[in-house]
Amino acid sequence: MTFRDNGPLDTSGVSAGGGGGGIGRGVMIGGGGLGTVVLVVLGLFFGVDLTGGGSEQPVAPGGQGGNAGISQADQEMDKKIKSCTIQLANTDTTCRIVATTNSLNKVWPQLLRGYQPPRGGTKIMPVGATSINTRCGVAGADTGPFYCPADQVAVFQIDFMDRVIERMGGTNAPFSQEYIVAHEWGHHVQNLLGDITKSQQGSGAQGGSVRVELQADCYAGVWASKADKGQDAMLEPLTQQQISDAITTAQAIGDDTIQKNAGRNVNPESFSHGTSAQRVKWFSTGYKTGDIRRCDTFSGSI
Ligand SMILES: [Zn+2]
Repeated sequence: MTFRDNGPLDTSGVSAGGGGGGIGRGVMIGGGGLGTVVLVVLGLFFGVDLTGGGSEQPVAPGGQGGNAGISQADQEMDKKIKSCTIQLANTDTTCRIVATTNSLNKVWPQLLRGYQPPRGGTKIMPVGATSINTRCGVAGADTGPFYCPADQVAVFQIDFMDRVIERMGGTNAPFSQEYIVAHEWGHHVQNLLGDITKSQQGSGAQGGSVRVELQADCYAGVWASKADKGQDAMLEPLTQQQISDAITTAQAIGDDTIQKNAGRNVNPESFSHGTSAQRVKWFSTGYKTGDIRRCDTFSGSI
């Protein structure tokens, strides 16, 4: 999707994270329960099997302390963020993330009464950042984009976003990146509505995690359907090619496709985000209807 016109962006909700400072400095990390809430949210688009990894265990901030200061990488990222314009959003990943958050914050108040942007804002981890502390635990640079409900913060790794095509096999980098941001916003909306905890209800192909993830895809589709409409729309009208690219992206990030591409057997019991067909279906449902009420993935078959 292409951003239209030129002009400034609202960068107030976006800042660097993980380049040494991190948002968790001095924040008490909660007990294991908090970690499990984010666990299902972590790993988005990545398809990583977090059950075997260490990142789901909240770890005390330890030696970082409260005076770690802001690293140079973070400072440079903050400078970059502040310099973003709408025009730059069409060529630069950092600015595209910023612009997409602007568009999401414009569209969602039209869809949801009482909508508030994420309190903790958006954090972009610069290249070379190793980890970021949140109340949901410490996430490594390879965790992939995620949303932490306890902090209301969405985290994106610039390195991951830059390489999303090669990692995910999608076809359209700008849209894939926008989709990821919109999907994480979907989790934020679920958090506002109190639905995100439903991810704890059952596991496997029909479980709560998959249902929460598919709803976030549907919400991303609803955003895409609204983002190019209206007088102050930030995006050019979607072309048929872009819509087809969107479907290809959704197709590429299904649990079954990711498992196949990794040379593993497809195991529905381990699904966390839904199959390719399901992700296409729910993104398309959101996009075609533009109606969040059609994104009820919790009742009935998915
Ligand atoms: Zn997700």
